[in-house]
Amino acid sequence: MTVIDHINQGKDTLISFEVLPPLKGKSINSIYDHLDPLMEFKPSWINVTYHRSETMFKKKQDGTFDKVEVRKRPGTVGICAAIMNHYQIDAVPHFICGGFSKRETEDALIDLNFLDVDNVLVLRGDAPKNETAFEPEPDGHRYAIDLLKQVSNLNNGIYLDEDILNGGKTKFCIGVAGYPEKHFEAPNLEIDLQRLKDKVEAGACYIMTQMFFDNKKFFQFVNDCRAIGINVPIIPGLKPLTTKKQLSVLPRLFHVDIPTDLSNSIMKCKTDAECEIVGAEWLLQQSKELREFGVPVLHYYTLGKPKVIWNVVKELV
Ligand code: FAD
Repeated sequence: MTVIDHINQGKDTLISFEVLPPLKGKSINSIYDHLDPLMEFKPSWINVTYHRSETMFKKKQDGTFDKVEVRKRPGTVGICAAIMNHYQIDAVPHFICGGFSKRETEDALIDLNFLDVDNVLVLRGDAPKNETAFEPEPDGHRYAIDLLKQVSNLNNGIYLDEDILNGGKTKFCIGVAGYPEKHFEAPNLEIDLQRLKDKVEAGACYIMTQMFFDNKKFFQFVNDCRAIGINVPIIPGLKPLTTKKQLSVLPRLFHVDIPTDLSNSIMKCKTDAECEIVGAEWLLQQSKELREFGVPVLHYYTLGKPKVIWNVVKELV
């Protein structure tokens, strides 16, 4: 079932979760261990993130270095299929432009289609850790909208190889990312929103947002989207703040602000356990307010903190 069908058929606010593929070498059981407790909340679907490869330098015996491409968290497509099979629920793979040629993307989409995965969240991806700006592969996509158009073409039976006539049509429900606090590369919010609108007009069925800690920013974002004619569902992406270190890490990595009340409370904590309590309480209040606002789904980034998310959602349902 697609995300948009879940939303349209949902009678109440839906819940969904997001997981990272385990580090290479770990088994699929680490995903099940992570998700098992959260299943009692009957999530509508599970998102699985995608992680591009990184360039690493491995020292050789003679003291010189070998440049190697390492994908630390492979397996997004396989994990989605495993989750769907194991829990009988839908999975939403994240697909990125970075590191993929158009042909590799097409093949991966065909795999998804054969596996009955009919959802995909299309993203651009970021620059690799050791590079400053995003660069597409020589035959890859520069922006998420270009990847979206490729998926949309497949939905219409249009493959890269023009010799394929009457090609089978896929039926992907396509989601895209939105940024209540603006994407860091966009010159201003107006232009960022216009580009988001372009993605919706190109076929995105819904928007999933970057994490945020101040609901006012989300409410304003939704109002701004509606004002320029973006009418698809907007799903808030939610994450608990659980350590003092995140006060500097999250703004640096994700370009989000931490409200003063939250940062003050976290600063007063003496241990990470205390930070977790503060972060969970903040997330619970955020979730209650968002539900009252009428969001279709509360989407939680569980990223290594399933217990905190469990505590929050338990209070909600
Ligand atoms: P785009 O929509 O392509 O936008 C990127 C930038 O380009 C923006 O500044 C936009 O304004 C600008 N832009 C867009 N179109 C044009 C144009 N035609 N001309 C000029 N500028 C343009 N990353 C991962 O690697 N893996 C994941 O699994 C992952 N999951 C994510 C999930 C969510 C919900 C979110 C919000 C982000 C996720 N990311 C993930 C991070 C994402 O890849 C980065 O935020 C990336 O920098 C932008 O992706 P995008 O899809 O928003 O890109």
